[in-house]
Amino acid sequence: MLNNELVKLIRFPGDTLKTTTQYSNENIRKSILINSLKVTKYISPKIYKTQQEISALLFNLCKIEIFIKSDPSVQASCMPSNDTAIIILTSGLVKILTNDEIRFVIGHEAGHYIYKHFVLSDPNDSDSMYELKLKRAAEISSDRMGYLCLKNKENAYSAIMKIISGLGNEYISFNIREFLHSYDEIFKLDSDVGVYMTHPAFAVRLRALLWFEMSDAYYMSQNINGKAPLTLKAINQKITRDLKRIGDNVIEQHCEASIKRAKLWLAIVLTTEDGKISSKEKQFLMKEFDNTTIKNAFQYLEDNGRDAVNKKLFEKFNNIKHFSVIHKSSLIFYLKEIGKISETNESMLQNYQELLTRYLGICE
Ligand SMILES: [Zn+2]
Repeated sequence: MLNNELVKLIRFPGDTLKTTTQYSNENIRKSILINSLKVTKYISPKIYKTQQEISALLFNLCKIEIFIKSDPSVQASCMPSNDTAIIILTSGLVKILTNDEIRFVIGHEAGHYIYKHFVLSDPNDSDSMYELKLKRAAEISSDRMGYLCLKNKENAYSAIMKIISGLGNEYISFNIREFLHSYDEIFKLDSDVGVYMTHPAFAVRLRALLWFEMSDAYYMSQNINGKAPLTLKAINQKITRDLKRIGDNVIEQHCEASIKRAKLWLAIVLTTEDGKISSKEKQFLMKEFDNTTIKNAFQYLEDNGRDAVNKKLFEKFNNIKHFSVIHKSSLIFYLKEIGKISETNESMLQNYQELLTRYLGICE
């Protein structure tokens, strides 16, 4: 039986989607019920048996209800309804996956429920590219949940190969090495091809699982004797590298640029608080920003006043609100540095430090 401790342990560190504690969406459940087949003991006994087995495994974590939707595409999704993960499988998926492979899919979808991957940031104030990066990271955590629901780990790999190809046993053989080899080129050069994808490339997911299988966390979860070849930490770093190669690097740069813009306006607000800018303050600004950027910012202040600059700062804060703490924490250090060189009064610095904690969730 899987437990919360293990669930936390195997969560991929890049997966930091916002969470909430309570879901209730009866209408969604009803609309699914109207349009699909509910898996029950007598109507779909094979899938029902799989559902029961996985429910027992996930007993401490969530309940599961499964529906089958008539749809030739090979897909699955999950909706939260109170304490239940409502999992929808398309008929296209059920037709080509074996029951053992479906275990992987059900476990994966239940993983989305368990990790509360549904509650995304408000689209009005978030950075959508960044959110896609978080979604891709979320898939890695969910794949691990799917993996832990398997009887035979090979079923994860064959399920992935079937989902990517839409083909069943009749047409493909499950040579993982050959499969990965055919994707070699995507790991060779950094590119931005994956920036707008909601899921990581299947080859990345498959590699991530092959590594997971070698991890200390997996050994522990399965009571495997002996020393695991890799730590989960090392594996997570490898996966992060893979994700960066296929788009995340572009987003990292984009994040850094957004953080830098927040730093600029924070510095402008604080260094100009006394109505003038000292040469020390100017030098400080020039360490991080070029002349034109600084000149334009001051011009903006002159033309529009302090309220507009404050508004600007909040706009920038909104853009980075959903970034990970690791990214955002550089702002606290920056604030400290401003405090050291500027004549900004202590209480104002204190106020902004509190604001960073309250509004952006970062603290020292
Ligand atoms: Zn998923």
